[in-house]
Amino acid sequence: MIDLTDRVIQPSFPREPTPFRAANGNLKWHLPRRILQLLCGALLIALPLTNGLRLDLRRDEFYFAWHKMAGHDLFLLFWVAMLGVALLSAVSFLYGRLWCGWVCPQTLASDFADSLRKRLDKAFRARPGQKSFYVARTVWVLGILGMSLGTGIILACYWLSPQTVGAAALAPWRDIPAGLTIYLTGGLIAGDMLWLRRKFCHRACPYGPLISTLTDSNSLAVRFLTERADECISCHKCEVDCPMEIDIKTGVGQHGCIGCGECVDSCNDVLGRRGIAGLIEYRYGTEPERVTKTLTWAERWGLWDGRRLAIAATVPISLGIVLFLIYGTLPLSANLTANGAIERSGTQVRNTYSLTVGNGSPNTTRFALSALGLPSGRVEPNFVIVPGHANRTLPVMLLSTQAAPGRTPVSFRLTAPRESKDLATIFYAPPTKK
Ligand code: SF4
Ligand code: SF4
Repeated sequence: MIDLTDRVIQPSFPREPTPFRAANGNLKWHLPRRILQLLCGALLIALPLTNGLRLDLRRDEFYFAWHKMAGHDLFLLFWVAMLGVALLSAVSFLYGRLWCGWVCPQTLASDFADSLRKRLDKAFRARPGQKSFYVARTVWVLGILGMSLGTGIILACYWLSPQTVGAAALAPWRDIPAGLTIYLTGGLIAGDMLWLRRKFCHRACPYGPLISTLTDSNSLAVRFLTERADECISCHKCEVDCPMEIDIKTGVGQHGCIGCGECVDSCNDVLGRRGIAGLIEYRYGTEPERVTKTLTWAERWGLWDGRRLAIAATVPISLGIVLFLIYGTLPLSANLTANGAIERSGTQVRNTYSLTVGNGSPNTTRFALSALGLPSGRVEPNFVIVPGHANRTLPVMLLSTQAAPGRTPVSFRLTAPRESKDLATIFYAPPTKK
């Protein structure tokens, strides 16, 4: 068992709790959690708007880490998805429900809706049945609707360019698929924030059942210290302050517990005033307490057995593959097939081919095209531009005014600043009519 909390009452405590410190001097979790939630919210907004992450379905573009790639690069998409799975699995295995309470956008939305409602009720001194109550709730609903539409616009920017989304938000009848994406997403978010909120975490979120397969009894969890249960004064503050309406005293790992740590702060405040260490903590494991000072840094970060090290290692491995696919250079690939179109016009003969070029570099590249082995051979077009990590297929023509009748072995040469490739084929010149 690893105890994350400094259980010693500091000499200058107990004293009145502050937003940063509980009455027993322990750091409060509420403020760091709020700061992390706000940073995650800001990242969620910034990523699609700054081309940090977007799979643009209309332009066939994939933006990842502010790098533009082809949208149909399924190999890269697969490894980006694998990175997400590795990250979520590692966070879940090491830190249990911390994702839910500290990072998940659903919790952020529910916290925002609940907090806004409480603040408006207070500001309008709302009492059920009074006019002020209806005014406060109307302002709340309007605020949620505005926030939901804004979120719908941001989420649509993960699939469409911000310009397309902006235009569709203002005139949805001009671009019905984009307009529907924005307003339906916004409507679902409004329904979630106005009615569902925590019910979604309790009853609908698939991550809840999944987490039970991803954690073991030694994963980090908020725990009531049953060995000191007799010190509980039954004030119920931990239950009152719990956003999920859970009584953590009835057991660890309850389905609805999102690991937010609000009950840890509550108990530290209540018992801290009496000079007693709190009875609720973030803790790895359920065994009797170990002394915090003996822990290594790896153990404090949850890396204290082989399985955890192995699952954590999948994150840098997946990240390395994704970075290589984005920034690394793969060889140029190309394929040429004659499509059978052969024309003679006077002395000039024209053969048409289908050329596919795979650009393995991360940058858009201009490849020069030339012909080898054909007298007065000329290629049209004589260059092809291919985006980074993308394929492009186009028709190309080989023309000659001096080709001997019959089959002539020739080559197309693709030349880029750093590499070139020759593609062997046949040029056919039909006999001239007498
Ligand atoms: S029991 Fe504690 S950690 Fe779990 S949701 Fe409630 S307040 Fe958060
Ligand atoms: S806040 Fe602490 S003392 Fe109060 S009921 Fe909860 S566990 Fe017991």
